[in-house]
Amino acid sequence: METFERYLNHEIACPCGRTHFVPVERVEIGENALASLYEYVLDRHVHCAMVIDDIHTRDVLGDRLCNLFMDSHKVAITHVTFEDDGHLSADDAAIDRAKDAIAASKPELVIAVGSGTITDITRYASFVSGIPFVSVPTAPSVDGYASTVAALQLNGMKVTKSAHAPMAIFALPSVMADAPAELIQAGFGDLVGKATSLLDWRLATVLYGENWCEEAFRLVDTPLRYCVQQADRLKERDPEVIAILFSGLLSSGIAMAMMGNSRPASGCEHHFSHYWDFKAFRGVRPYRSHGLQVGFAVHFTMNLYEYLPRLESIYRPRPLVIDEEWIRRAHERWGDAAAEVVREQSAKAEWLQDHDTRLSWIGLTGETLADMIDLDLEFFSKARSALLSIGIPDRPPYVDVTAELLQETLLHANEVRSRFTVLDFYMGQGLLGALSFSLD
Ligand SMILES: [Zn+2]
Ligand SMILES: [Zn+2]
Repeated sequence: METFERYLNHEIACPCGRTHFVPVERVEIGENALASLYEYVLDRHVHCAMVIDDIHTRDVLGDRLCNLFMDSHKVAITHVTFEDDGHLSADDAAIDRAKDAIAASKPELVIAVGSGTITDITRYASFVSGIPFVSVPTAPSVDGYASTVAALQLNGMKVTKSAHAPMAIFALPSVMADAPAELIQAGFGDLVGKATSLLDWRLATVLYGENWCEEAFRLVDTPLRYCVQQADRLKERDPEVIAILFSGLLSSGIAMAMMGNSRPASGCEHHFSHYWDFKAFRGVRPYRSHGLQVGFAVHFTMNLYEYLPRLESIYRPRPLVIDEEWIRRAHERWGDAAAEVVREQSAKAEWLQDHDTRLSWIGLTGETLADMIDLDLEFFSKARSALLSIGIPDRPPYVDVTAELLQETLLHANEVRSRFTVLDFYMGQGLLGALSFSLD
């Protein structure tokens, strides 16, 4: 399992030519993590802290943590528990409640005990209140624990907002091994999503000279391959493998922090998921778990890469033109979200033009390009089997995505973000409209 010290809280002059900085002081994954957290809080001379959890994580860990501090009589604790009837989301009401509690008791430190939702409520509320926070994750369900951005649901729409990273992360593998099965599945789905996000990054590097960092790549790729091999042990909730899954998700978070963006861990499979979130916002389907959506999507985004070696020749791409006709159609499809889509796609068109540095596209074939990005089809088949064995199917319907929506997603998911992915590659080749998933 990766130890993170060498990446944390200091400037790293990297062989990639950049200086990386990960603004997290400490990460500890182990059964002594609560005792370490206690020491950490005392070392920082904190006299007054707040614990935020929900009714499940309170029973699992929140009460235990509060008692630890209260018994010591060294730290005054305010305990805020969200009632979670299965529908807790990081929305305006939850954030206001956390903000009001912070304003009322003025803690010097806030401790989030929970999975992604509790962590993001706390991350954002503590950030706008100007108070540091520490994360105590209770499930290996998302890669965002170390993130500086909060995933929120404001006015019914999923958005990300600038916030801050936790000062430290303390996690107990035995607690995470007892997390609800769906949260473990979701974490695995989000991790396996990196199978195509890493290739999208490599593709953009090979074709357009995007910034590459071998160190950040390795941080994501190594645990991805290990966890895919260990899917059966994960299903049995082996705490050792659960800890490695969590560590792998955290590694992705650290790689993102190193690059200053989500490039290493979010590509076309995440754009599929964002498209489905847009459909949920429109009321076409309900919001479903991020990690399950990504895990489902990656079955299909792997298909897109599997097709690549079959291309006999690759041409200089058609320019992406965002003209009046394009904008008119965007308004038809995207409604209120059209302005954002047009902005993202205009940025992409400009980026593609500025980065079209390949002197020659002549002679480039699908096979040569597959070699250049180290396409590993054997790994794909292992990843696919691992997803199936953990319970993420490769055929719709799943997570309220029908076969029809899936095909529509193939045509339009690339419009949600300015980031270049294999979807944009196929569009540039004039092939996006000709592709379809075979779902027999
Ligand atoms: Zn994700
Ligand atoms: Zn680097």
